[in-house]
Amino acid sequence: MIHPWQVLKTERSLNETVRQAFVHAYGKRGSDAVDAVRDRRVKKYRDYFVVVGNSGEYYVEGDFCSCEARLYGKSCWHTLAVRIAQELGEYETYDLWYYKDGVDEEEPEYEGGQP
Ligand SMILES: [Zn+2]
Repeated sequence: MIHPWQVLKTERSLNETVRQAFVHAYGKRGSDAVDAVRDRRVKKYRDYFVVVGNSGEYYVEGDFCSCEARLYGKSCWHTLAVRIAQELGEYETYDLWYYKDGVDEEEPEYEGGQP
């Protein structure tokens, strides 16, 4: 069994070895995630990570993703892409709130201390 996260830690880049390891472990989710990170389609806003998918942008927070996959009890590749991006530091950083109008009203502001 190939452990893609271990391979990623060793290789420290999204080369073919890493891509194959993710494809092996996650199938199409793996290749979609790796390709998105390679294309720098993962963006870090102040409040969320945002992944630009094939049919829209989705925000990700931990294991939560805003896309429709979870409505069907499926796992999507967006959360996987964010984990890969975080592991490598391969994402665009925007000093902006993704939801500037405040969707999360119980978190009006939090300065610094990003996890
Ligand atoms: Zn998703």
